[in-house]
Amino acid sequence: MDDDKSLNLPIPGNPVVPQTFDASKVIQFQCRKGIACWNACCSNIDISLTPYDILRLKRRFETSSGEFLQKYTIPYEMEQSSIAGVKLRPVTNGTACQFMTPEGCSVYEDRPTACRYYPVALLSLRRQDEYTDRASYALVEETHCLGHKEPRRISVANYRKEQGLDQYDELARGWRQLILKKKSSGPSIGKPSRRSLELFFMVCYDIDRFSQFVASESFNRLYDLPAQEMKDILCDDVELMQFGFRFLRQVLFGEESIPLCQEAAQERHLRHQERMQRLEIEAAARRAAEQDGMYENPEH
Ligand code: SF4
Ligand code: SF4
Repeated sequence: MDDDKSLNLPIPGNPVVPQTFDASKVIQFQCRKGIACWNACCSNIDISLTPYDILRLKRRFETSSGEFLQKYTIPYEMEQSSIAGVKLRPVTNGTACQFMTPEGCSVYEDRPTACRYYPVALLSLRRQDEYTDRASYALVEETHCLGHKEPRRISVANYRKEQGLDQYDELARGWRQLILKKKSSGPSIGKPSRRSLELFFMVCYDIDRFSQFVASESFNRLYDLPAQEMKDILCDDVELMQFGFRFLRQVLFGEESIPLCQEAAQERHLRHQERMQRLEIEAAARRAAEQDGMYENPEH
């Protein structure tokens, strides 16, 4: 089994207790107002956002995804996978979360997935022969967090329920699967083009720009979406986000589920044929050159 682990840790350098476990594990933990370490965890943040986290927060602030991204986030590249990610931007010249107040989190009802999970870390584990993710967890025990000394015992399953994580995880599933699939494609695919990185960023994080793209003439010249489906996705951010994951699977991995316009499909077929012919001609020329002893292999 070839496991690939990705941690959603809120704070860098966290001492993750190495054991992993499933949702039936009972942990001892409670965070409550009045605890001596109140806000310590939000004073030094490193919080990655899922596409659904961004939807919830931008909705809360009644702002566009572009404005939200600019004001509250920092883009980054996920570890060695060349996939665009987005983190919460701390306060200017500091490490604290912009949403932290003396009373606690000012966006509590819409706080990101990583904040909900803390101090549990979600590990996405994947078997080499499958693209579906299977959840397992670890516990983050930081000395400044006194919640571990509180007497409450709770299973990870019930902690997830309490934190509203079922919905958050369900709606991030398509995004996580794209990341797993990208990582599994490995070096043979090579570094993705700038265009595919930008596309991933727009679809996953800048949902309002993606919405404009889906409504554009160029998109509709290429794709043949039924009118009702088009209406549904343009009226509902969550539907649009889910459609975006499907769209990326088609564009990045060739998993076709969105019908192409006939003309566009023909053009694509022709381009594919031309490419195959070109490759055949190049291969034949290389073989001929090798036979003549004129082909210089740069590796020898
Ligand atoms: S979003 Fe809320 S819970 Fe998360 S780090 Fe910021 S203040 Fe803390
Ligand atoms: S108990 Fe832990 S999670 Fe709660 S405020 Fe203190 S440091 Fe943060």
